[in-house]
Amino acid sequence: MSPQKEEYQIFCNVCPRNCYDTCSIKTYVKNDKIQFIEGSSDSTFTRGGLCVKGYSYVRRVYSKDRIKYPMRQVKRKSGNWERISWDEALGTISKKIHTLNEKDGSLLGLCLATGSGNHGVTNNSPHGMMSSLGHTTRTVGTPCWPAGIDAQTYDMGAMWCNDPEDLIKSRYIILWGVNPAWCSIHTMKYIYEAQERGAKILTIDPVFTQTAAKSNLFWQIKTGTDGALALGMARHIIDSGLVDSEFLTN
Ligand code: SF4
Repeated sequence: MSPQKEEYQIFCNVCPRNCYDTCSIKTYVKNDKIQFIEGSSDSTFTRGGLCVKGYSYVRRVYSKDRIKYPMRQVKRKSGNWERISWDEALGTISKKIHTLNEKDGSLLGLCLATGSGNHGVTNNSPHGMMSSLGHTTRTVGTPCWPAGIDAQTYDMGAMWCNDPEDLIKSRYIILWGVNPAWCSIHTMKYIYEAQERGAKILTIDPVFTQTAAKSNLFWQIKTGTDGALALGMARHIIDSGLVDSEFLTN
């Protein structure tokens, strides 16, 4: 018998991973414990459903390996960790910051590098704390998203993207070095829809991925030869008179 949803408190959440699906989640709680979660159909992009990482959130919350308290490595590189109190953890960190400030006369030696692995509270809240201290050092850029922004800016003059739902209107889709069948399952849904509407799908990858298996064409290039292939394609476009000069000029 399927569970009666009226029996649960239902909370609306969103997956904080750095994944543009940003899945809406419904969390079902009973007896102060998460019983299960499901993708929310309120999201027009995902239309409900999560990837396997999303569905594993329940296990993550109650995992015995989850770090819930401050831990200190007894000796550096020892791998030997002990639990300490919040007061001790905060006291140790603030003492180090004060020592640095007194020694250097500034806090530029204090660097915050949060990356973009997730966009939850734990990723963004340290920025406010660091700003409250005055001038500190922050790392900027990663080989991931900023590289994409640069590529779009050089190619198109600006960073703009279509809504992923627009994929279904495509007549030809090139999936270059991506494997959405594994890594972006909601995008794959729109790729299949485009294919059903007659679009041709080309996957370019050194590896025969599951996405490649579902594509109409698969170009299995050697690792590191993407640049040569891209230049060859550009040459062919120019030689065949397929260049949109007006677009390039403007
Ligand atoms: S597809 Fe998976 S990782 Fe991405 S937002 Fe949804 S649940 Fe999170």
